[in-house]
Amino acid sequence: MTEQKRLRIAIQKSGRLSDDSQALLKSCGMKINLRQQRLIAHSENMPVDLLRVRDDDIPGLVMDGVVDFGIVGENVLEEETMLRTAQNEPTDCDILKRLDFGDCRFSLAVAEEFDYTGPQCLANKRIATSYPGILKRYLDEQGVPFSTCMLAGSVEVATRAGLADAICDLVSTGATLEANGLKEVEVIYRSQAVLIKSKNKLSDEHQELLDRLLMRMQGTMEAKE
Ligand code: ATP
Ligand code: ZN
Repeated sequence: MTEQKRLRIAIQKSGRLSDDSQALLKSCGMKINLRQQRLIAHSENMPVDLLRVRDDDIPGLVMDGVVDFGIVGENVLEEETMLRTAQNEPTDCDILKRLDFGDCRFSLAVAEEFDYTGPQCLANKRIATSYPGILKRYLDEQGVPFSTCMLAGSVEVATRAGLADAICDLVSTGATLEANGLKEVEVIYRSQAVLIKSKNKLSDEHQELLDRLLMRMQGTMEAKE
């Protein structure tokens, strides 16, 4: 392929990180026309294209060098890194910046009436989650054997639906757990949104643009503190 003229940044198309990701880029002076429901949005005033995808696809796109940058939750990055490591696939990517949004914890939760006394009481139970790698690493460390019920969504209803004995899910306020008769019993990972970069070599012009964007991002984040 010929040398790319425009930088590519992957962001979540629609979800919890979308608005903040767009706002961050706009706060760096980037004009983006996002009106159409398009996969790609071009910046009007910078040599940058935005690729708008599912958050789960972002780490892989960066690790394969399909895009130069991505904004994604650290939990998704961690899960993809573990999966790819197990499959001997490239995991190259650098975290350029931890961002001031997308904060959440990845926690084990059980039904209110479950008599939870520690991770050991989950031995041989079935646990529903969207991030089986991070969960398995934690329970392996604890020496707790378990089985997984992999759900990409609706994890919080899995116990009530009789699909699992416990769940491991992302939590911010805890209101969703409470609304589903669950209690948070163990925080196993803390996450926030991060800006990641592929191993793609940048031209001098692109490197200068990146430096400028990073400086502006820092400025925006400090202004909010
Ligand atoms: P997609 O359709 O892009 O796959 P999704 O349903 O997997 O979206 P969202 O629920 O939009 O993902 O969450 C995106 C990211 O936001 C999470 O991976 C996590 O890093 C972060 N996040 C912050 N707070 C929460 C929360 N309370 N619940 C879920 N995710 C949260
Ligand atoms: Zn997702």
